Amino acid sequence: MSTHDLDLLIIAAHPDDAEIALGGTILRLTDRGHRVGILDLTRGEMGTRGTVEDRDQETAQASQKLGLAVRRNLGLPDGRLVPGVSEREAVAAVIRELRPTIVAGHNPNDPHPDHRGAGELARDGWYLAGLKRLAEQAGGPPAQRPPERFIFQSHTGFDPTLVVDISAYFERKVEVIQAYASQLAPSSPKDDGAHLLRGRDILERVTHKARTHGGAIGVEFGEPLLCAGTLSADSRLLALLGSA
Ligand SMILES: [Zn+2]
Repeated sequence: MSTHDLDLLIIAAHPDDAEIALGGTILRLTDRGHRVGILDLTRGEMGTRGTVEDRDQETAQASQKLGLAVRRNLGLPDGRLVPGVSEREAVAAVIRELRPTIVAGHNPNDPHPDHRGAGELARDGWYLAGLKRLAEQAGGPPAQRPPERFIFQSHTGFDPTLVVDISAYFERKVEVIQAYASQLAPSSPKDDGAHLLRGRDILERVTHKARTHGGAIGVEFGEPLLCAGTLSADSRLLALLGSA
């Protein structure tokens, strides 16, 4: 068994957050045979559109299209995600079990309270995963803190440390997001998309963002990442994105 079983673990508040932020990056990694996993913290049961059952089915479809090695859900309360001691220790336990080399989470400054909480849980869970005593108390796999951690972008912009060229994967990223059909279509004639922070058309927003970030590095479509800490020239993520 290798030291790390997963190459990248993305920790997200709601099913579809990881796809919207990093779908192209995931495809670029899984196409190269790397192992990517997603830990969703909630099942999105407070969402304005669709039912939990719809979402579970859509999530399974999206996971398949992405070629994920593993997808987990902690089942924390959607819309009420509060990062307490038990929540962060639960995230740490998943990190110790799945042993990723790289962890990516929400921006802890996101205006959506769930995203903010999920960002804190990714950061704190990542830290706690490395504490030996805590791992011993939990009685599961040994302590292990992933060497690299990144932050992905949902609502709040940031000056990215790097932009991943996803031009070759953008069409497939859109297909993956389209797997979440219940989230894309209005749930009733009264649903004008006013609950969405930045306009009613999710795909249009995704396209606009990808073009803007791609433009910053002179390619058609891109996804931004912020390195938590200093990015090493020997970054594992950079190596994985580049290797054939
Ligand atoms: Zn979300």
